[in-house]
Amino acid sequence: MIQLDFHPSGRHFLQIPGPTPVPDRILRAMSYPTIDHRGPEFGALGRKVLADLKKIFKTEHPVIIYPASGTGAWEAALINTLSPDDRVLMFETGHFATLWRKMAQALGLEPEFLGLPGTEGWRRGVQADMIETHLRRDTGHAIKAVCVVHNETSTGVVSDIAAVRRAIDAAGHPALLLVDTISGLASADYRHDEWGVDVTVAGSQKGLMLPPGISFNALSPKAIAASANAQLPRSFWGWAEMLEANKTGYFPYTPSTNLLYGLSEALDMIQGEGLDNVFARHQRLAEATRRAVRAWGLQIQCADPAAYSPVLTGVMMPDGVDADAVRKVIYERFNMSLGQALGKIRGRMFRIGHLGDCNDLTLMATLAGCEMGLKLTGVKIAASGVAAALDFLAQS
Ligand code: PLP
Repeated sequence: MIQLDFHPSGRHFLQIPGPTPVPDRILRAMSYPTIDHRGPEFGALGRKVLADLKKIFKTEHPVIIYPASGTGAWEAALINTLSPDDRVLMFETGHFATLWRKMAQALGLEPEFLGLPGTEGWRRGVQADMIETHLRRDTGHAIKAVCVVHNETSTGVVSDIAAVRRAIDAAGHPALLLVDTISGLASADYRHDEWGVDVTVAGSQKGLMLPPGISFNALSPKAIAASANAQLPRSFWGWAEMLEANKTGYFPYTPSTNLLYGLSEALDMIQGEGLDNVFARHQRLAEATRRAVRAWGLQIQCADPAAYSPVLTGVMMPDGVDADAVRKVIYERFNMSLGQALGKIRGRMFRIGHLGDCNDLTLMATLAGCEMGLKLTGVKIAASGVAAALDFLAQS
C-alpha cells in the first residue's frame, strides 16, 4: 500500500534540477475553476500565453504547447520535420542527449552520435568544430538535422548554440538545427531566432516554475516548411492543426487548462522580474554553489568554466564514495531532494538544482543540507562551503 501519511515538518526542499518548487502564486492561479476550452474566456488565455511565450524563447515565430512532458515535445520535434531513414547528427553531452538519440532510433531515423571518448564528453559541451567537420564530409547533404541539448541536465553543462549554428553555416550545410532547452528555458540565456534554431524543445517544470505536464516546440519558418514534406507518421503531435487552432488562441484537442493558468502567472512573474534579471539571479546562485563545492575540496562535474550551467551544479564524489548514499542521508535527515547521477556516471556525483523559484536563502539552506550530509556520511571536506558561498553572496 502507498503510504500517504508521511509528512515531515517544514517544507520539502526540492533541489533537483526539475521539477522545481512551484511558487504559491502559481499554485493559487492553477486552482481557478476549469473553464470551457471552446468558450470566449479560453481564447483570451490562449492568445496571451502564446504571445508571451515568444518573448521567453526570443522568437517572432509560433510556439506550440503540448499537454505532455518534455519527452513528448522531443518526439514532436523529430516527427514533424523528418522522414523514415533520415540521417540526423546528434552530440553526446550526457544522459539526455543519449535518450534523444535512442528515441530517434526508435522512430526509424538514422542517428550519427558524435562525442568525446568515455565520460569526457559528459564534462564538456557540444564541440562545434566536430559538427562542422562531420557536416563538411556530408557533401550529398544526407544529414537532415543536427540535434543538440542546450543545458544538459544530467551533467550541469551548457552548450554554445550560436557556435553550433556557425558550424552548420560554415559547412554550407542545409540541415535543420533542433535544440533541447528543456531545463534551460527561462533560467539560461536562450535566443531561438538570433541563434538560427529551427525547433526548440522546452518543458514547464524547470525555469518556468510550473508542475510537469506541458512542453513546447518553438518553430522557425524553415521548420514549418520542412513539416509539409516530412513523412514520419504523426497525428496527436502534428503542428498543422495546432498552428491553425492557435491562431485564435484555441487548441485542436482539450488543453491542460489549469496548467495554462499557471503558465500565464509564471510568464507574468518572469516578465515582472525581467528576463535578464532572472538570468543574472541564476548565474549568481550558480557561482555561489561552485564556490561552496570548491571550498569542500570536491570537483565540479563540468570541466569547462565557459560551459558552467546556471541551472544546476554536478558535485563529483571522491573515489569510493557512493553519491546515492549521500543523497539518501540528506533526504532522510533534512527532507531535501538532490538530483541523482544518471546513466554512465550513476552513483559518482549528485546534482544541486538552483533554478526557478530560488533565492539566496533557499540556496544557503540547500548548501547547508549538503554540507551536513557530506559530514554525516564521512566525506572529507576541506573547508566550509557554506561559509564560502555566504561570503560571495554578501559581497556580490
Ligand atoms: N531533456 C532534458 C535536457 C531534460 O532535462 C529532460 C528531463 O529532465 C528531458 C529531456 C525529458 O523531459 P521529461 O522528463 O519532461 O519528459
